[in-house]
Amino acid sequence: MAEIQLHNTLGGKIEPFVPQEAGEIRMYSCGPTVYDYAHIGNFRTFVFQDILRRFLKSRGFKMTQVMNLTDVDDRIIANAAAAGVGIREYTEKFAQAFFDDCKALSLEAPEHWTRATDNIDSMVHLIERLREKSFTYESEGSIYYRISKFPDYGKLSNIDVAGIQAGARVDVDRYEKESARDFALWKAPKEGEHFWETSIGRGRPGWHIECSAMAMKYLGETLDIHTGGIDLAFPHHENEIAQSEGATGKHFVRYWLHAEHLLVEGEKMSKSLGNFFTLRDLFAKGHKPSALRFALASVPYRRQLNFTFDGLQQAASSVERLRNFADRLTQGKFPAGAQKSMAKRIAEAAEEFDAGLSDDLNTARALGAVFEFVREANIAMDKGEFGSEDAPAAQKFLQTFDQIFAVIENNDAQKLQALGYGQKNSNAGDAEIEKLVAERQVARQTRDFATADRIRKELEKRGIILEDSRDGSVRWKRK
Ligand code: AMP
Ligand code: ZN
Repeated sequence: MAEIQLHNTLGGKIEPFVPQEAGEIRMYSCGPTVYDYAHIGNFRTFVFQDILRRFLKSRGFKMTQVMNLTDVDDRIIANAAAAGVGIREYTEKFAQAFFDDCKALSLEAPEHWTRATDNIDSMVHLIERLREKSFTYESEGSIYYRISKFPDYGKLSNIDVAGIQAGARVDVDRYEKESARDFALWKAPKEGEHFWETSIGRGRPGWHIECSAMAMKYLGETLDIHTGGIDLAFPHHENEIAQSEGATGKHFVRYWLHAEHLLVEGEKMSKSLGNFFTLRDLFAKGHKPSALRFALASVPYRRQLNFTFDGLQQAASSVERLRNFADRLTQGKFPAGAQKSMAKRIAEAAEEFDAGLSDDLNTARALGAVFEFVREANIAMDKGEFGSEDAPAAQKFLQTFDQIFAVIENNDAQKLQALGYGQKNSNAGDAEIEKLVAERQVARQTRDFATADRIRKELEKRGIILEDSRDGSVRWKRK
């Protein structure tokens, strides 16, 4: 197997991946801010994290991943106050929707889910540690981090701190590189806002301290991997480093991995441009969860992903090709024995698949290996050059693929139904079409060609095309 190489934002280079303890990985992934429904851009990053964890697990590592729910930050405080409800009440609906969406996209649950509001004590404790080491100062009831006290400030995002005026402060959680300043660790409550009564005073945590405290509480003071979207590198992750390393004096994270953004038809997603999509928006239009997962996973994470409806359609066809191939492997009738050349091809494809993922999670390269193999195997099957004993090895390769990409099992309709998205969905008809296709198969096998023909015409009227293959199996697709 190939050596695993990953791009580390800290240092900006591709490096061989070696965890601090052999065979074990401690990984922290910034979770969603549950102030609204998550959008497909957010899920680009979450799917990347899922592919990463599945790949590392498939390589035998014991994975301990922590993902947080940011359920207190500026936006949540403002929205909850505007709605006149507590923050738990406000965020609960979006947290639940997020978990549902994760299931729809077959995202594996991390070993630990944790909410910021369940960890206020750890945050207060970390701020106290920083205060003891003089990294903090107070102003009007808020506590700030003094970035001039941490000489490594800027090492992740390569920000130039030379021109920053000492003592200039920023209170908001999210800000641009140009406005790098001392940032708030603890914020004094404003009129009508939610606050906690603690040993460092009344108030609420800043966003950045939340992740430092939760990561170290569950994973220790040095993590192997920390992930997020590229927008989090500054200021969020830069500030996490300053807080954690300031307090512990130890290296906080060995590998920082960031996913580039998803754009829609080449533009940034925004509600005003009308190109802003949640999963629910796409499922209501009839798109399948597996197609979306495939579309989000297929572009390597360090490339921007240009989401288009054409691309989503192509992803659906790709998934269908894989499913058809998987069916053909189980249902097709092949000449007895194995073909030597086929066994070799399967081994080569598996090797190239692994080499692709080991190459900084190059999903496009890994998928290339799979589709090239499927194409060649289909041709071999048509020519009678695929033996019955080749099937188990090919199946094993598809399983290895699907342990990571998780799109072959045909459970879209059930998922949509379980999540209550299904009603308006054209996929809801899949089960009925499959029933008709199966009836036609029975008719053909019993040489009842009149019935078989009638069903074919019926399906045609519904826009379904049938493809009969030589081994007697049949595939269907929409026109
Ligand atoms: P948030 O809920 O804003 O904290 O974001 C959750 C995750 O989604 C973070 O890792 C962000 O970096 C990531 N993210 C936000 N917008 C996009 C986008 N357009 N494409 C990819 N990832 C994104
Ligand atoms: Zn975070």
